[in-house]
Amino acid sequence: MATKNNTLKLKFDSARKYAPAPESKAAAKIDAKYDLFINGKFEKPLSKKYFATTNPANEEKLADVAEANAADVDKAVKAARNAYEKTWKKMPAKERAKYIYRIARVMQERARELAVIETLDGGKPIRESRDFDVPTAANHFFYYAGWADKLAYAFPNRNAHPLGVAGQIIPWNFPLLMAAWKIAPALATGNTVVLKPAETTPLTALKLAQIIQEADLPPGVVNIITGAGATGAAIVNHPDINKIAFTGSTDVGKIIQKAIAGTAKKATLELGGKAANIIFEDAPIDQAVEGVINGIFFNQGHVCCAGSRLYVQESVFKEVYRKLKDRLATLIVGDPLDKNTDIGAINSKQQLDTIHKYLKIGLKEGAEMYEAPCELPKKGFYCRPTIFTNVAQSSRIAQEEIFGPVLTIQTFRTDDEVLEKANNTPYGLSAGVWTDKGSKIFNMTTRLRAGVVWANTFNQFDPTSPFGGYKESGYGREGGLHGLNAYVNLV
Ligand code: NAP
Ligand code: MG
Repeated sequence: MATKNNTLKLKFDSARKYAPAPESKAAAKIDAKYDLFINGKFEKPLSKKYFATTNPANEEKLADVAEANAADVDKAVKAARNAYEKTWKKMPAKERAKYIYRIARVMQERARELAVIETLDGGKPIRESRDFDVPTAANHFFYYAGWADKLAYAFPNRNAHPLGVAGQIIPWNFPLLMAAWKIAPALATGNTVVLKPAETTPLTALKLAQIIQEADLPPGVVNIITGAGATGAAIVNHPDINKIAFTGSTDVGKIIQKAIAGTAKKATLELGGKAANIIFEDAPIDQAVEGVINGIFFNQGHVCCAGSRLYVQESVFKEVYRKLKDRLATLIVGDPLDKNTDIGAINSKQQLDTIHKYLKIGLKEGAEMYEAPCELPKKGFYCRPTIFTNVAQSSRIAQEEIFGPVLTIQTFRTDDEVLEKANNTPYGLSAGVWTDKGSKIFNMTTRLRAGVVWANTFNQFDPTSPFGGYKESGYGREGGLHGLNAYVNLV
């Protein structure tokens, strides 16, 4: 055992031998204070209140951000309604498309700045913000710009009418990308928007507001207001909102459902997940192990569709477990701005406490815990990638969303057994299947109750493909042609 640990330590040390490769902060222009983006201008909040947003990697304050109250929300909704009635819904679709293209292009021009700010404000590795979040966000604007004047082809023999004003509320795990997921299809279909980013990660949405100004979008078409849960609730409860698009926790999703019950408001809810990643004995094991690592440790496990439950066929369990531990030992946890970093900072102290709470629950439930042998920075919020084995299906760490770099592993013998276990959760957002056999993939994908099922890969996203959940993971689809549907009335 001692030798094994030494081997892991050696591997870890060799991984740490990379020279630091920090991304420059010079590209990130962050103001000391941000107001609310309403009617095309940055306006002081009627609440007169501001709150700080910090960098979770070192706990330093980045900026003060306005806290919108119900009166500010009302002002933003009025601006959106006015822009909808007077400008946006009347504008020829091909003109609307030009604005959306322009936003996408300015995002590309300012990609480096957006990536650095996303990493500073949220704690995710720069490699991810640079190579995934920002380009995928720009691609959503490009993709939906393309649809704007082709709605007749999206909905043949129907007339697609916009809904009106969309209230959009997003979480902290993919701040810019979630804003793009929500704003791009709403604009393409002729709706106007009031969007609220999460309290801990408002900065890229505010940068997007500046980009929207630069793109000359008519005032009021997109309004971006910052605040905490109460601001979100004020958007949900505003009587002049026609649609709520929410991404966040299942608990808040339920509150929203209750709040809009009996109103004419439409809703799409993208909520939590507890994805099963299933490795069959005939799978390419090395590829599968890499996919599991990518599936749960990517973005510190702050991913709604993270493959947080691993099911391994009994005959290959030992091999998979050994390879997983070996790979874990080479992961670099630390400064998110360093290009070598694999796992950055946990988004907030509160989220880190939640993860620690679950680690204790796992141990108390009798599971065996393995933490990667890495050192953590002294300041900031960090968590070692962690694996639990000896996990019972009923255990809380296998049932509840932890939203951190924590993987549970269970074994199985037959297809039916793993299907039953994989589907035995209140969630149904995503799943993964690793096998050499196409027939097995089809058998599993048709019987897994999850909105997205990846085969021999994991966490792949594309603007053209729809995303959304079953059961307590929510309803409605975002992305692709389906994503347009959520913003139109078909007559
Ligand atoms: P959250 O607490 O539900 O917050 C999401 C957003 O809702 C934030 O902007 C939040 O504001 C706001 N909010 C809080 N209380 C509200 C209320 N009563 N009414 C209206 N809005 C309210 O979720 P989170 O912790 O930020 O995000 C993590 C969760 O999001 C996870 O469960 C994850 O699975 C889920 N998620 C799902 C998807 C998906 O596509 N299915 C994608 C990403 C994340 P504050 O942040 O200021 O409190
Ligand atoms: Mg922050």
